[in-house]
Amino acid sequence: MSDNVVNLINKGLEKLYGESLKQLEALITATGLPVYKDPKSGALLWVDVREMRLRFTLSVNKIAKFIDGLREGKLMYTVCKRCGSKYFPPQADCPKCKTSDMEWREVSPVGELITWTVINVKPASFSHHSDYIVGIVKMPDGFNITAWIEADPKTLKPGMKMRLVVDRRPGENYITYWFRPA
Ligand SMILES: [Zn+2]
Repeated sequence: MSDNVVNLINKGLEKLYGESLKQLEALITATGLPVYKDPKSGALLWVDVREMRLRFTLSVNKIAKFIDGLREGKLMYTVCKRCGSKYFPPQADCPKCKTSDMEWREVSPVGELITWTVINVKPASFSHHSDYIVGIVKMPDGFNITAWIEADPKTLKPGMKMRLVVDRRPGENYITYWFRPA
């Protein structure tokens, strides 16, 4: 990520934290405790006043073929050699057979759009993006893929053919996958 993007994210986070901290202070001033009732469930919730930021590091050792595929512009999935179950995102082990006897295959590039939504209230880590579309695409390999859709939302229709793109996404600049109308 460029310094610019990092700065933008930090600014967004500061704004977000600033607003929620103000609400928290108001709650403590009014009630004496950082505790409120969840409007949906009625459950009592404690809001910790300490801020915590996390950066995750996940092992991708067992799905190294998925990472190699992305580098080559391919999206890979796994098939259990024993029961034939297909997994995307790929799994290194079949939870049904409890085996690691998996075959790696490339995802067929064209699927059909099932549904989509335009995200205009974004999580803080995506606040540097303009509004984006997330959709579910039914793939001929026998599973669905949830990913961003690069299109004018007004042109989208259920059943439309969608083509996978594996490339660097502007904003993060690392290689990921999304769809475009085919
Ligand atoms: Zn299996």
